[in-house]
Amino acid sequence: MKKTSNRRPSGRNSRKKGKKPQFPFFLGKPPVGGNGEGPLGGWQFRFSLGYIVVLIVAMSLFNYMFLGKNSDIVDFSTFKEKIASGEIKRVELDASSYYTGYLTAAPAEAPDPLTRRYARPQNAIRTVPVYDPDFVKLLDQKGVSYYAVSRENGALLDFVFSWVLPIAFFFFIWRILMKRLGNAGSNVLSIGQNKAVIVAEGDIATRFGDVAGVDEAKDELVEVVDFLKNPRKYTDIGGKIPKGVLLVGPPGTGKTLMARAVAGEAGVSFFRMSGADFVEMFVGVGAARVRDLFKQAREKAPCIIFIDELDAIGKSRLNGIAGGNDEREQTLNQLLVEMDGFDGTSGLIILAATNRPDVLDPALLRPGRFDRQVLVDRPDLKGREAILKIHAKAVKLAPETDLAAVARGTPGFVGADLANIVNEAALLAVRAGRKIVHQSDFSEAIEKTVAGLQKKNRVISDSERRIVAFHETGHALVAGFTEGSDPVQKISIVPRGFGALGYTMQMPTEDRYLMTESELYGKIDVLLGGRAAEDIVFDRISTGAANDLTKATDIARKMITDYGMSERFRNVALTQRGAGYLGPAAPEPLMHREYAESTQQYVDEEIARVMAERYAAVKRMLEAKRPLLDKIAGVLLEKESLDEHEFQALLEVPAV
Ligand code: ADP
Ligand code: MG
Ligand code: ZN
Repeated sequence: MKKTSNRRPSGRNSRKKGKKPQFPFFLGKPPVGGNGEGPLGGWQFRFSLGYIVVLIVAMSLFNYMFLGKNSDIVDFSTFKEKIASGEIKRVELDASSYYTGYLTAAPAEAPDPLTRRYARPQNAIRTVPVYDPDFVKLLDQKGVSYYAVSRENGALLDFVFSWVLPIAFFFFIWRILMKRLGNAGSNVLSIGQNKAVIVAEGDIATRFGDVAGVDEAKDELVEVVDFLKNPRKYTDIGGKIPKGVLLVGPPGTGKTLMARAVAGEAGVSFFRMSGADFVEMFVGVGAARVRDLFKQAREKAPCIIFIDELDAIGKSRLNGIAGGNDEREQTLNQLLVEMDGFDGTSGLIILAATNRPDVLDPALLRPGRFDRQVLVDRPDLKGREAILKIHAKAVKLAPETDLAAVARGTPGFVGADLANIVNEAALLAVRAGRKIVHQSDFSEAIEKTVAGLQKKNRVISDSERRIVAFHETGHALVAGFTEGSDPVQKISIVPRGFGALGYTMQMPTEDRYLMTESELYGKIDVLLGGRAAEDIVFDRISTGAANDLTKATDIARKMITDYGMSERFRNVALTQRGAGYLGPAAPEPLMHREYAESTQQYVDEEIARVMAERYAAVKRMLEAKRPLLDKIAGVLLEKESLDEHEFQALLEVPAV
C-alpha cells in the first residue's frame, strides 16, 4: 500500500506508525473528535498515554481493515482520463471524501453488513473530487454507471467516531481528574470533607515538659488544660470558658508543639488543620471543610481544634483590592459562624497559631473568638539552654559537653533552630566516626546553621548586640531614675518578631487619663535614653533609635500645639482637633492648623530646642550613672533579658 499525504481524514493510518505520539500532540488534537484542552497538566501524561496509544493503534487497524483498503489515489485528471479511455466502468461519488472508480462493471458482492459500503475490489482507484460541472456529462457520454454514496452509508462507524468515542474520551479524562481529586477526598462527593488528622484520645505523647523557653506562654496554656479537664469548676461559678486562644510568634518557636502539648496534657482529641488546607480551588469547599471539622469536633468533645497558620484564611477582609478572594472570605465567615455557634460548656477549645497577627481580620480577635492571645517569643539564654537539654536527651553526649555554652553561642535562635543544631551535631559526630557527640560538633553545627540564618537576615552580630544592650539599658536606667516614670517590667535584647532588636517594657502603675508637664518630659527622657546611652558608650549614634525619636518628637509637638505647654504660647491650643462628630479622636488629617506660618516656624524650633535640652539632661544623667549602665548592660548581654525584680536588684546594689 502506498502512503500518500492526502489520506482521507477519517483514515488515521498516518498516525499509526513512524511518528511516536507526543503528549502535546494529543492536547491540541485529541485522537477522537472532542476537544482535549482543559485542566490537563503533566500529571495526565503518565496516566493516559498508554491507553491513548492502544486506542490509536486499534482505531488505525480498524480503519485499515474497513475503509482505506485496496484503492489508490490518483489525480482528478488521471481519473477523468481513465473514464474517457473507458477503463473505469463504474464510479462511486462521495462528495465529502473521494470519488472511487471501479474498473469492473458491477458490484461483485453485497454491501458490508457493518459499514453498509461495498467492499472495494482490488481494481479500484480513488481521487479527491474537484468541482467540475462537465464531469457527469463525461460519465453519461461514456456510459459509465455512477451513483452517489453519502455518509449515511457509514452510519454506524460515524456514530462511533462522532459520538461514542468522544464521550468515552471525556469520561476517561473525568475519571483521571476524579482520581486525582480523590487523593484528597476519595471521590467527588467528599470534596468538602476535612483533611484533619483525627488523633484519638491518648495518642498524643507531647507534654509541657517537651516545651521549654517559653514559660509565659506555657503558664497561660496550663489554664487552658484545666478548662478542658475540669470545665465544671469554671462553669459552676458562672464563668465562661474562652473559646479561642491564639498563639502568636515567629516561626519555629514551638507554637505547634505547644498546641499538641495542651491536647496531650488534657488527654483530649486533637484536630489539627493548617489554614492552607481550607483554601481550595473551588469556592465553598473551604467553608464546607470548616463546617465538617466543627461537626466532627463536636461529636468528639471535649477536644481541641488546632488551626495552624491561621493567617492563610484569617487575612483581613478589609485590605486588598475590592472583590478580594471569595473563597477565603467564605471560609473565614464560616469559621466565625462556627466559633459563635458553640458555647463554653461544650468542651471545645480552638487553638490557632500565626506569625502574622498584624494581617488577621479584626473580627477574629473580637471577644468570644480568639480573645486570648499568647505570645510565643524567641527564647532567651536560659530558655535556649532548656530547649537544648530537651533535645539533647535523645543523643549521647560526651560528659564534658557544655550546653550553656551552646546556648550562649546561639542568640536569636528559636526552638526549631536549636533542635536542628542538636541533630546536626549528632550527624557530624557520626561522620567523624564517633559514638558520642562532642562540644566541637556543636560548634561546627552552630557555624553551619548561622551561615544559613545569615542568608535569611536573622542573625545579629556581636557588636550590634552590644549596641542594643546599651541602648535598652539606657531606656531602663532613665526610667528607673525619673520621678513618676512607669516602672520597668522587662528589658530584653532577644529580637522580637517584627523588626525590634530589643525592647524595654514599662508597666503603667495605674490607668492614666491625665499627664502632668513633668511626666511628659519624663516620657521624652526615657525615649531619648536609648540613643544617649549609645552616644556615651560608643561615641556614635545608630538608626536603632528611629522609632524612639518619632515618639518623643510627637510628644514634644503635642505639648506645644495641643497642650499649651510652650513658653510663648503658654495655654494656647494651636491645633483644632476633631472637626465635627469625630470628636477628639479624629485622625491626624482632620486636624486643623489654625496658626500663622511664623508660628509653625516657632513650633519647629521649639521642638528642636526641647529635644536638645532633654537630650543633654539625659546624657548628663547617664554619664553620672556610667558604672551602673555598664554593669546592667553587661548582665543583659549575658542573660539577654531581665525581669523587673532582677533589674531592681541591679539598681539597688551599688555598682563597683
Ligand atoms: P512553630 O509551630 O512555632 O513554627 P513548631 O512547634 O513547629 O514551631 O516547632 C518545630 C520544632 O522545633 C518542634 O517540633 C520542636 O522539636 C522544636 N521546638 C520549637 N520550639 C521549641 C520549644 N520551645 N521547646 C522545645 N522544642 C521546640
Ligand atoms: Mg507551626
Ligand atoms: Zn529604643
